[in-house]
Amino acid sequence: MKLKLETIPVWDAFAAGVQCPLCLLMEASHRDAVSYYTGSSVMHPETRQEVNRTGFCPTHWKSILGSGSAQSVALLSHTFLLETMGKTGKALETLSGETKVKRVKKLAGEVTSVLEKRSEGCLVCDRMKERRERYLYTIIKLFFDDSEFRSTFLDSRGFCLYHTQDLFTMAQKMLRDSQYIEFIKNLAIVTAANLERLEGEVLWMTQKYKSENADKPWNGCENAHSRSVTAVTGEGRIYH
Ligand SMILES: [Zn+2]
Ligand SMILES: [Zn+2]
Repeated sequence: MKLKLETIPVWDAFAAGVQCPLCLLMEASHRDAVSYYTGSSVMHPETRQEVNRTGFCPTHWKSILGSGSAQSVALLSHTFLLETMGKTGKALETLSGETKVKRVKKLAGEVTSVLEKRSEGCLVCDRMKERRERYLYTIIKLFFDDSEFRSTFLDSRGFCLYHTQDLFTMAQKMLRDSQYIEFIKNLAIVTAANLERLEGEVLWMTQKYKSENADKPWNGCENAHSRSVTAVTGEGRIYH
């Protein structure tokens, strides 16, 4: 397995000292993908054809809508609607005058299947998935090729549970036995330490609400509840 390395963004994300560097990278990837489809590329017929064919998932239609470019959203949704009308128009027209139940069921089935297909794909999800694969690949590659990165990885706060799963999966895809064991062992150490630290912090937060602890210091645990939610859900998980 060989993918394009993304060394600089990966290093930057680890240097940011966040709860999950992959979440940070994926947030940027989400912004880039949305601005691509709402930027000048909308004027290119190939992009519009791509959007007509595949479209976006509900989450990313909302991201596209929130991009602030009303003209781009209008162009994209207009051609997407036209394509949808082309695919369903005949069946819808026939249905409006059809009286035989068997025919109605058949045509209704046709419309449903077209609509299901229309809501299946997402160009933003696809772009983000591609980028995610490259980031996961880069992290594992740097872990073996760059001793400074390995130390940074081991001293990091680990990853959200969602991206921890991704690293486990990618390691299995790209590493042979001995390297696989080595990476998984270290990922397990980082993950266990991260969970233990978080659990301790959130526990202290619960204790701080007891009256006998009111005067004791927070020890940096004021936002442990929100960091725990980030670790469990993954803030950058804006894709399917
Ligand atoms: Zn994450
Ligand atoms: Zn999507």
